[in-house]
Amino acid sequence: MNGIESGSMIDGFIESEVAAGPRSLSEVQQGVMKRAEETQQQIADLFSVQIDVVSKAEEWKEGLSYDPSIQIDAIAESDSAAGMHNLQTRVTTLDTGALETDRDEDYWKRVETHEGVHETQHVAVAQGAVVDGEEDILLPLVEWHAITESGQPDSDLTPEYVSHRQKGDEIAGLIGADTIKTALREGNILGLQEKIAIARLREQLGLPADQEFVIAA
Ligand SMILES: [Zn+2]
Repeated sequence: MNGIESGSMIDGFIESEVAAGPRSLSEVQQGVMKRAEETQQQIADLFSVQIDVVSKAEEWKEGLSYDPSIQIDAIAESDSAAGMHNLQTRVTTLDTGALETDRDEDYWKRVETHEGVHETQHVAVAQGAVVDGEEDILLPLVEWHAITESGQPDSDLTPEYVSHRQKGDEIAGLIGADTIKTALREGNILGLQEKIAIARLREQLGLPADQEFVIAA
């Protein structure tokens, strides 16, 4: 049996492992190893042929460098997402594509890094208040932050996420990238909305960035 067939067999084991619902990476790895051992034994018993599926599965397992507690689920189908972080449950999920034998490793590491930005830096944001009626900035900015920190090129992104990235770049041009990142970490979205509103007003009025002015209540 050649390597390509062993590889697609491993992809089948991965699919079977997550078919019943989300599992941690280490659970999927253990399950795939068990299936590989059983399959190798069955084929040896039935056909008296030795195949190398166990060593291929070991090679696959060693090649995965994600956090072992990360959750694996078929979210590309259900949510059209490669990765997700739930700020309420604090669970990060990667699509099963992250484990496939012919995966693009750099792409999936960027997805993992992106979700890690949400996980470590947007906790306060999830609890923060937002002013209704103001420009919708929260989703574009948290996505812009995760996209820029993980170095995802537009080719990694859906059109919706490209527009989040563009909006974030535009706002960063107005008030500075560090101002946005600090406000997201602190969960101070009200302050951020105010800064953006003032910067937009300043732009409309043609006032230089260093000229002070006060908005009368
Ligand atoms: Zn995101």
